[in-house]
Amino acid sequence: MSNILLARMGEITLKGLNRGSFEIQLKSNLKYRLKKFGDLKIYQTQSRIWIEPKDESNPYFATESDAKEIMKAVTQVFGIVSVSLARKFEGGFDEVVENAKAYVTELLANNPDYKTFKVDSKRGNKAFPMNSPEICAELGYQILENFPQLTVNVKKPDFILNVEIRDYNYIYSGKMMAHRGLPVGTSGKGMLLLSGGIDSPVAGFMMASRGMPLDAVYFHSYPYTSEQAMDKVKDLAKIVAGFSGRMTLHVVNFTQIQLDMYKNSPQDMLTITMRRVMFQIAERLAEKNNCKCLITGESLGQVASQTLEAIQATNAVCKMPVLRPLIGMDKQATCDISRQIGAFETSILPYEDCCTIFVAKHPKTHPHPEDVIEAEKNLDIEAMVEAGVNGTEDIIIEAFD
Ligand code: ATP
Ligand code: MG
Repeated sequence: MSNILLARMGEITLKGLNRGSFEIQLKSNLKYRLKKFGDLKIYQTQSRIWIEPKDESNPYFATESDAKEIMKAVTQVFGIVSVSLARKFEGGFDEVVENAKAYVTELLANNPDYKTFKVDSKRGNKAFPMNSPEICAELGYQILENFPQLTVNVKKPDFILNVEIRDYNYIYSGKMMAHRGLPVGTSGKGMLLLSGGIDSPVAGFMMASRGMPLDAVYFHSYPYTSEQAMDKVKDLAKIVAGFSGRMTLHVVNFTQIQLDMYKNSPQDMLTITMRRVMFQIAERLAEKNNCKCLITGESLGQVASQTLEAIQATNAVCKMPVLRPLIGMDKQATCDISRQIGAFETSILPYEDCCTIFVAKHPKTHPHPEDVIEAEKNLDIEAMVEAGVNGTEDIIIEAFD
């Protein structure tokens, strides 16, 4: 008997001819994400992926609570729907009963309030002499006999005892939900405009969930934005990288560019002109780093720079697609995702970002194209963009320590 992780695949199983390449990517991502948990065997049967230690004394698999950490890491790999820790053993129905009894004894010791259960079974091995309903009925009976405190409740049990009969037998109860999506690396790379706020880390998470590896760019205006603001962005990049994989964070030194703009363009257009320069710098960095799109956390109507006219004005400066996964989302829904991915507490730390310092009191919310031309007439945009690109510092963000 040994412990093994059973991970379920989602959308990938709907793929046709190219399903194989998605699966290979998924297994390779799991291998990378689980590196620190010792030598593992990762293999697949139909819509399941199995993860087990090569060394039986691997401490991460010892008990349910020891396995929490590795299971959480599995849930961070896109393409996985859920994961369970299962007992794996050989034998016929007698062994199933013996192992189930031992398993339920432990389960009840950890959850003394459990009173009701049901058995669910799957039979992959058609040579096994009992079918699924028979396994459920007979095993249910055996559990009732041995644990008088338990009764069966098929509608709303306190726990489900899952049994799977394949080349080996498996018993488990419960599962940890993952984030679904497609394995990172099955799409081209994107350049995430990452600020210290709530929205952009969520936007990065969402695009990574569609298989997209990421780089990130942050516009830093030291000393107007503090070192703490920089650290906060690095922390957020690390949280996103936990899902998207190792990334490069490109830090643009934006101070001089912003000061020049502040001096030489109308206040009410500052946000728009600044964002137009940001997008151009981001696009150049994207081209240099093999990214095929930009990603932002913009949401329609949220602030002055996110009206349709403002978005059109910023979009006009770049050729690459600009993906805005939050464009139709409510702020509350974004906050929910931010909490789920563990970014919220970091995002709400109170450090200024560059946009809040140089922001006008009454920004133009519906700029006309002529306003934009007028606002930029005293600016050497190309020189600014070039200075921004050349003054960029690259920081490698590992996905985990
Ligand atoms: P967020 O919560 O992501 O900061 P926001 O609601 O504060 O977004 P804005 O400040 O208007 O909205 O920024 C819109 C988007 O522009 C951000 O989601 C992000 O993608 C990008 N952005 C803003 N400021 C920066 C910055 N300093 N560096 C990189 N990207 C930025
Ligand atoms: Mg912001």
